[in-house]
Amino acid sequence: MTHRAVFLDRDGTINRDVGYPNSYHQIEIYSYSFEAVRELNQLGFKVIVITNQSGIGRGFIKEKELLAIHQRMHHDFLAHQARIEAFYYCPHYRFSADPRYRQDCSCRKPLPGLGFRAAHDWNLDLSRSYMIGDKVEDIEFGFNIGATPILVLTGYGEKSRSTLQHKGLRPAYIARDLLEAVTWIKKREQNSLLGHK
Ligand SMILES: [Mg+2]
Ligand SMILES: [Zn+2]
Repeated sequence: MTHRAVFLDRDGTINRDVGYPNSYHQIEIYSYSFEAVRELNQLGFKVIVITNQSGIGRGFIKEKELLAIHQRMHHDFLAHQARIEAFYYCPHYRFSADPRYRQDCSCRKPLPGLGFRAAHDWNLDLSRSYMIGDKVEDIEFGFNIGATPILVLTGYGEKSRSTLQHKGLRPAYIARDLLEAVTWIKKREQNSLLGHK
């Protein structure tokens, strides 16, 4: 049986975007994010974070520091009865001084690599999945994997909204924040159960 996912960008979507945090106390999770993830869980979605972390390739944060942040975040959400199933990240940076990360990779959003990897790992139906994020690359990523993309106006959202307009790219919905995006998904799901969209 296939599952459906809601992919979430991290910085500017779940938590405040502060550049390149390298420890958990620099991560400020938006207060509504726990409820948003909990509701997605209740709707039966796998919640999966997809995040560009070129700070690793740039040498601003070590990969094991990033893993520690994600582990803390996972537990923090669990403590709020909310489950983030997995974190997928791109550590690469084309000009990295470290050859391990010096790559023109296919996993940096908007490229679809991490979405395809997650789909394989979790047996996901991408066409019935969603992507929520605050940047143009999140919306393009959503299109590239064949999911329904939603822009949030937190983080870089306002700026992204006008860039998307110039590019002629239309997210399926523009939400004030993550919780409002989830409310929209919920309504859309109920409507499709009733047989109309
Ligand atoms: Mg972001
Ligand atoms: Zn990559």
